[in-house]
Amino acid sequence: MNNNNKSFLDLSKKEISEVVESFGELPYRSVQLEDWIYKKYVERWRDMNNLPQKLVSRLDSSFKLHPLTEISSSGQSNDPAQKFLFQTSKKNKIESVLMYQKNRTTICVSSQSGCAVDCKFCATAFMGFKENLSPGEIVDQFLHLSKKSKSRVTNVVFMGMGEPFLNYKNVSKAAEIMNKKINIGARRITISTAGIVSKIYKMADDKLPYKLAISLNAPNDEIRKKIMPLTINNPIKELIKSAEYYYSKLKRFVTFEYVLLENINDSEACAFELMDLLKDIPCKLNLIPYNEIGGKFSRPKSKSIDAFINALKNAPFTVTVRWSKGTRIDAGCGQLAVKN
Ligand code: SF4
Repeated sequence: MNNNNKSFLDLSKKEISEVVESFGELPYRSVQLEDWIYKKYVERWRDMNNLPQKLVSRLDSSFKLHPLTEISSSGQSNDPAQKFLFQTSKKNKIESVLMYQKNRTTICVSSQSGCAVDCKFCATAFMGFKENLSPGEIVDQFLHLSKKSKSRVTNVVFMGMGEPFLNYKNVSKAAEIMNKKINIGARRITISTAGIVSKIYKMADDKLPYKLAISLNAPNDEIRKKIMPLTINNPIKELIKSAEYYYSKLKRFVTFEYVLLENINDSEACAFELMDLLKDIPCKLNLIPYNEIGGKFSRPKSKSIDAFINALKNAPFTVTVRWSKGTRIDAGCGQLAVKN
């Protein structure tokens, strides 16, 4: 068997067992392999020193262990965030971010290289769409960053480059590997979508155990269409209905993300309209003052941000404000893009 372009990280438990069996080895070798890869974060086949040489050679000639190549990183380990640039097997670029908060260490992974969704405020959109990442390429971001992390990784967010729901199958498989093989709790894995309505229904019907975040960013279609063209096919009314369906099926709160853009969606009138829109859904609202990328959008002045928050003080849902950690190194929300 020569799958040299195939990554071992793409394989499910069952597929690993089949490979081990096809190489004439006993089933416990699968457990040893998973231990080396997902617990010890080993980088090379030859470092798996309790495996027979014959098996190591066959694996080495048949599979890539790590499909990603690290190109560079920015930020230091004592910074609140570090960003990593990788090259995929098809020679496209992606970025991932490691973030430290009080008692939580989070990895933000990319699900695609570039993105086709074209949100007007997002740096990734400028790259256009390059490719869907394989499950192994998504998981490999986790493995690389875990090795670099100064503390145990507790959370994963699919908020890097790309729209996870346009790569649904590979994202689900990667999340399952992180959950089942690496032991990241399902509620500590968040999939964030720009609002692909059909896939929110699918996530609910498939009973995926992960948290859902929806990047809403406007209280009505008129504003949303200007900044998120996918609204034309995914209007807010349908988006809200899908979020209600998700809650009714899974009894899990949805998080709505709202990037505050100066003079676009930051008025008090927008805040009141937003409160009205979300008042009947069990949800949380996460406000994100915009991280500027040198384009036409700006972060609102502090006074406007405060007024917006104040207008939501009677909201029947929790409102939080996320000041992105990695803005100094262009690793804040919406800032991921490969400049070259
Ligand atoms: S915000 Fe997300 S969905 Fe929108 S263009 Fe950027 S990466 Fe794509």
